[in-house]
Amino acid sequence: MKDCIFCKILRKEIPSEFIYEDEHCFAINDINPKAKKHILVIPKEHIESLNEIKDFEIVKKLFEAISKINIKENISHFKTLINTGAKAGQEVMHLHIHVLSD
Ligand code: 5GP
Ligand code: ZN
Repeated sequence: MKDCIFCKILRKEIPSEFIYEDEHCFAINDINPKAKKHILVIPKEHIESLNEIKDFEIVKKLFEAISKINIKENISHFKTLINTGAKAGQEVMHLHIHVLSD
């Protein structure tokens, strides 16, 4: 998607360090962290939100990625959050899972 921040990061049009990447997803540190560690796990495909998912296999891939990231980043306790829809606080309209750990 042309004007989507996360698609631009994926295309390297906006610089951001990838802390994880596989065939289906990637992860970056949140630019405005709300915890000591605040990671965003993002599907490579532009899916606006949970409401637009057609094939829920991607949800499995995202949580598999979280599991691998947590081992790599030494995260044992954490919260996940998925804001869905602007009224729920979703600012970036490209599905992402927040992983927060103190
Ligand atoms: P949402 O409110 O959509 O669930 O969360 C979007 C998150 O993306 C916010 O926590 C915000 O700080 C983060 N964010 C927005 N723009 C950028 C960016 O350009 N780079 C990074 N790393 N994070 C961003
Ligand atoms: Zn996108």
